[in-house]
Amino acid sequence: MEKEGLTIVYTGKGKGKTTAALGLVLRAVGYGKKICMIQFIKGSWHYGEMYSSKRLEPEFEMVAIGKGFVGIIDDKSPKEDHARIAKEAIKICLEKIQTGKYDIIVLDEINYAINLGLVKVEDAINLIKSKPDKLDLILTGNYAREEIIDLADLVTEMKEIKHPFQRGIKARKGIDF
Ligand code: ATP
Ligand code: MG
Repeated sequence: MEKEGLTIVYTGKGKGKTTAALGLVLRAVGYGKKICMIQFIKGSWHYGEMYSSKRLEPEFEMVAIGKGFVGIIDDKSPKEDHARIAKEAIKICLEKIQTGKYDIIVLDEINYAINLGLVKVEDAINLIKSKPDKLDLILTGNYAREEIIDLADLVTEMKEIKHPFQRGIKARKGIDF
């Protein structure tokens, strides 16, 4: 019997949530699996995986929908803008999830988007519930909601024991972004 896809959550304060998802992606690309990573928050930043994804094409596809969110977090845009961008983001996720084209979909930093009130938890729950049986769905970001943890098959909490940031060491290219 073919194994069903899982819902996987990487949460917690410690470093390693996005990199855990990327590690899984790297492994899966090795078997020619099709993967889509949807970035919720990082839209206007530059980060390494944005460039590595190009090297892992066509198996790995990366979509940034966080651009609007980043702007919104920084400047005080009207509430209707939040709602509109969140709605568009969820629509893109739903389309990607339901196309059946992917083996794995990563919703990177979606837990933050929920925690910030940008994405409704009900919409995220709906995404999880609507996933095809064989799809592996990964959600990252700290502050994973109880409702999402309940629905997940695999939940790992990254625990911070030490982080160089505590000593004032800044984020490093290729290690942190
Ligand atoms: P990474 O992308 O390195 O796996 P992450 O996904 O667990 O980290 P996020 O919460 O998405 O962490 O944080 C985004 C940025 O903050 C990354 O540059 C990450 O390296 C850094 N970071 C992660 N955890 C911590 C921490 N405990 N203290 C300070 N900075 C952190
Ligand atoms: Mg992350």
